[in-house]
Amino acid sequence: MDYQAVLEEVAAFARPLVGRGQAAQYIPALADVDPAQFGMAVADVDGGVYGVGDWRRPFSVQSISKAFALALVLAEGGNKIWERVGTEPSGNAFNSLVQLEYENGIPRNPFINAGALVVTDRLQTLTGDASTTMLEFLRAESGNPDVAFDPVVAKSEAEHGDRNAALAHFMASYGNLDNPVSTVLEHYFWQCSVEMSCRDLAVAGGFLARHGLRADGTRLLPRREAKQVNAVMLTCGTYDAAGDFAYRVGLPGKSGVGGGIVAVIPGRCTLCVWSPGLDSRGNSVAGVAALDHFTTLTGWSVF
Ligand code: GLN
Repeated sequence: MDYQAVLEEVAAFARPLVGRGQAAQYIPALADVDPAQFGMAVADVDGGVYGVGDWRRPFSVQSISKAFALALVLAEGGNKIWERVGTEPSGNAFNSLVQLEYENGIPRNPFINAGALVVTDRLQTLTGDASTTMLEFLRAESGNPDVAFDPVVAKSEAEHGDRNAALAHFMASYGNLDNPVSTVLEHYFWQCSVEMSCRDLAVAGGFLARHGLRADGTRLLPRREAKQVNAVMLTCGTYDAAGDFAYRVGLPGKSGVGGGIVAVIPGRCTLCVWSPGLDSRGNSVAGVAALDHFTTLTGWSVF
């Protein structure tokens, strides 16, 4: 496969959509990002890395961090996390409170905010420092020691974090958090604030395409848990648009309101696309279109 040629063609296809949609407005530090940017990278399982456009420019990973947090909890603590968070798509917005009361404080899945707060709580208990654990992992897996938190974004989220605080307090009232709400929120915001490029994220997500093997060949996840992360990405990774994403792209994927999406072709490669303009459900407009075109051109959707 000539990845570079495919990426050039995909970028040309997506170009008319770049700038469509809106950068996330509810986090002021993200609202100012220029929506007219686009990058895409592929990291294949043999170590090849290819990119197009703004693929080396760092952006706010936001909810893409939720996939790494889940993997780290499964690696450290095994399957016990599934007693505290479900594996079903929510069909509701990523920051919705509505299902929590019916389901006794157990979030539907680890990729909506409520579920990610539970995962962060568990990572904090297992490691004593959830956000630093994730940062070190992302630096090691991407091979980029400059991967860092963005304190401006973390502060902006904390200052406008009433919804996440409400979710955390509500779950705490059901006994589904072990650590203080303030601790869980702090680590969650730091994780969301990490800045990485498409290149960094595609490389760091390589273990998902390698059935759980890290970049250095050691095992992060047993094959079963690696399969679980990919499966939940497919069914829940793009929030209430997961059905549409599966139908258009047909890959496990995890998006973030920074405009990035990581997608996995198990056994072949990990992709990352970025364009800050979001649709109404918080997914990158040009990013989803680019991934749709990529799997159409290559025939490499999981379907
Ligand atoms: N930090 C964002 C939030 O908590 C992440 C949401 C997202 O990327 N969908 O709302």
